[in-house]
Amino acid sequence: LRANFSVIQKETGFVNGLIAVIHDNTEQEKIDMERRDFVANVSHELRTPLTTMSSYLEALADGAWKDREIAPAFLQVTQTETKRMIRLVNDLLQLSKMDSRDYKLNREIVDFKQFFNRIIDRFELSKSQNVSFHRVLPEKQYFVEIDTDKLTQVIDNIISNALKYSPDGGNIRFGFTVKDTHMKVMVSDDGMGIPSANVERIFDRFYRVDRARARSMGGTGLGLAIAREMIEAHGGSIWVESEEGQGTTVFFTLEIEINEEGEWE
Ligand code: ADP
Repeated sequence: LRANFSVIQKETGFVNGLIAVIHDNTEQEKIDMERRDFVANVSHELRTPLTTMSSYLEALADGAWKDREIAPAFLQVTQTETKRMIRLVNDLLQLSKMDSRDYKLNREIVDFKQFFNRIIDRFELSKSQNVSFHRVLPEKQYFVEIDTDKLTQVIDNIISNALKYSPDGGNIRFGFTVKDTHMKVMVSDDGMGIPSANVERIFDRFYRVDRARARSMGGTGLGLAIAREMIEAHGGSIWVESEEGQGTTVFFTLEIEINEEGEWE
């Protein structure tokens, strides 16, 4: 709270009144604080790769470039860091686009099972880890009206996380169930899980449970924050259930448009 006082004084010097205006600044202060935190986080996230690159480039310039073994390794590091910064800047642009007022979804009606299967196929064909995929999908066709690029990004992020945090020989399960006018989509892994105290925070911008570990895996810490904004823009919700050491399940909901008979649900 902030209070402004004005003293009402007569020409003679006598005070004959006092006006107190009390402002409720808590909401504005919260927004200001979040903005400051955000800028500090972005700066930190950019400074780390830049500092790393700077020292490797300095070593190269100081003569490491002549070493046939060291030089390619150092260049590799600078390339990895550059790619991380590009990912980060792309994620930031994405968030800022979503924050703007004229943000629009490019919706089209698609058969969700087919859409989901194509994304899972792409991961299954290109994965290099020893992780098995299991799909439990309804027989029936269900249609959703979604921005397919955005939803692809959401599902890509969830599956990449499931793979990142899965152990060797792990399993990832994909499924969705339908109730009334909504479907609930789930992706579950039997990986390291998330401590219960942190579960709610993983959708915050830049939040990572284990900073060093997440960074070493190339994450920006923005993936789930973007996923939440995108799902909410579609009118759905997204949440996580997780048990440390047991695994994690990410859920999100979408509204169903029409069923296979072409009926409005
Ligand atoms: P990142 O780029 O770090 O993956 P995300 O926003 O996608 O950022 O995820 C935020 C954090 O949530 C991750 O750093 C990780 O600590 C945790 N997390 C997300 N998905 C999983 C999962 N399937 N298993 C364990 N931890 C996860």
